[in-house]
Amino acid sequence: MLIKGVGASPGAAIAHIYFIKQLDLSVQKQEGKDPKAETERYEKAKEQALKELDELFEKTAAADPAAAQVFDIHKMMLDDPDFCDGVEAALGAGLNAEYAVKSSADALADFLGSLENEVMRGRAADVRDVSGRLIRILKGIQESSEMPAEDVIVLAEDLLPSQTVKLDRSKVLGFVTKRGSVTSHSVILAKTMGIPCIVGVGEDFDQLPRSGEIAIDGKTGEVLVSPSDNERADFLRRVNIFMQMKEDLKKYRDVIAVTPNGRKVKVCANIGGVADADTATGFGADGIGLFRSEFLYLESTGFPSEEKQFEAYKSVLERLAPKPVVIRTLDLGSDKQAPYFDIPEEENPALGYRAIRICLKEPHIFRTQLRALLRASVYGKLQVMFPMITHLGQVLEIKNFVAEIKAELDAEGIPYSRDIEFGIMVETPAAAVMSDELAKEVDFFSIGTNDLTQYTMAADRMNAKIRDIFNPADPAVLRFIEMTAKNAHANGIWVGICGESAADTTLTDFFMSVGIDELSVSPASIPAVKKAVLSSKE
Ligand code: PEP
Ligand code: MG
Repeated sequence: MLIKGVGASPGAAIAHIYFIKQLDLSVQKQEGKDPKAETERYEKAKEQALKELDELFEKTAAADPAAAQVFDIHKMMLDDPDFCDGVEAALGAGLNAEYAVKSSADALADFLGSLENEVMRGRAADVRDVSGRLIRILKGIQESSEMPAEDVIVLAEDLLPSQTVKLDRSKVLGFVTKRGSVTSHSVILAKTMGIPCIVGVGEDFDQLPRSGEIAIDGKTGEVLVSPSDNERADFLRRVNIFMQMKEDLKKYRDVIAVTPNGRKVKVCANIGGVADADTATGFGADGIGLFRSEFLYLESTGFPSEEKQFEAYKSVLERLAPKPVVIRTLDLGSDKQAPYFDIPEEENPALGYRAIRICLKEPHIFRTQLRALLRASVYGKLQVMFPMITHLGQVLEIKNFVAEIKAELDAEGIPYSRDIEFGIMVETPAAAVMSDELAKEVDFFSIGTNDLTQYTMAADRMNAKIRDIFNPADPAVLRFIEMTAKNAHANGIWVGICGESAADTTLTDFFMSVGIDELSVSPASIPAVKKAVLSSKE
């Protein structure tokens, strides 16, 4: 039997199925219940859920402290004011506790799911996850089975964040999900780990067996059950090519990427959270070239406090030390919206109120982040980067903010590193054109080819219909890259690339020929990029 889904992370695998069963969490609406008794049932279930989440946190934190954070987020969600108000109102109206939980969680998840931003849409899964836990407890159902000890391909309707965290990553060879988009949890995890993933299998998913062997191809989206001898041989060939490629690339993990001319190039990792830092090191990252700090904001139910940010930055810096870590300040707005941060709807959000534009207009947000960053700087080698710069005035304003925060910390006797580097993203045509002037005011440039391509080609990066125009290899984009690199070096600063095209090995020769000093890519792509640098023609 051959079924097709959407290939979301490439590679091939054959292994036993580990089916993560969808528990029967269906809920009937019952009216005329005693509010007091149902409230008691609800409170008891919540207590039990908090206990389970604490246990899961402890268990996961021992192996992966950062990954355990998802359980903290779930705990916070149980106290989310909108969610609690909804439950209370339903209980007060005489509805049963299961229905009160479900209706309130659905309202919140639907709201999150309706947002344009893919990361926020992903948060809807967390709401369903934690409300599912409450409903399961209320219905008296046990949690699903433990993962087997052998290698597996995980099959699930949609992988919940808490299920993802519980998986033993070393045993998972691939993922297949009934629902899910190319930015769902399973895909992000698969890409970071470098294993195949197929999403959106749809109704055909129900025909898949719950056990036995299965073959998948994350490039073509094929899922093969009970293959004939010929089909099996064909898949084994694909698996071998994939494994061989991974094996061949392994030797590049820990080498230093040097061009044939003897120039050292840093190959770093792009990460979205503390959890990815160890994965980055495992794939041989020379540092972190882009920590998208906005994920901390998107994962929270409110603005993350200075303390929470400090802990996250400190943790990544400590894990990577003495290697450098580029932390990008908040890049909210446009395709990344947080519900608690009420940005009014805009005609052209990509050209609107976003990133540094928000930070400079709402200094309390910026100050909190700068304080957290500076305080964390003593734990490793910090490089701070500012997104969406379009003119010199912004850089000068930023420098004033940094000087003020430093004076504040000095007055409070709080230590910070004296050699933090401050750089900017070159991701607008304006910044590329003015890079000669900008280079005089900063310590480094990092070229964001995703936005630079979008703005140079006037082509929305999210619009599949104009994929051909959104081309990071277009000569117009490449000219901007060349100009930026030249101006950086003429002013004695380094220049990196952290957009997706940094991992495009067909462009490595060009990047090396213009003297790019650092390429920052998703962790699993590091070995292939190092290999490309080693054999590049400068
Ligand atoms: C970019 O624009 O290339 C970039 C790296 O930033 P983001 O994709 O987060 O906008
Ligand atoms: Mg960008």
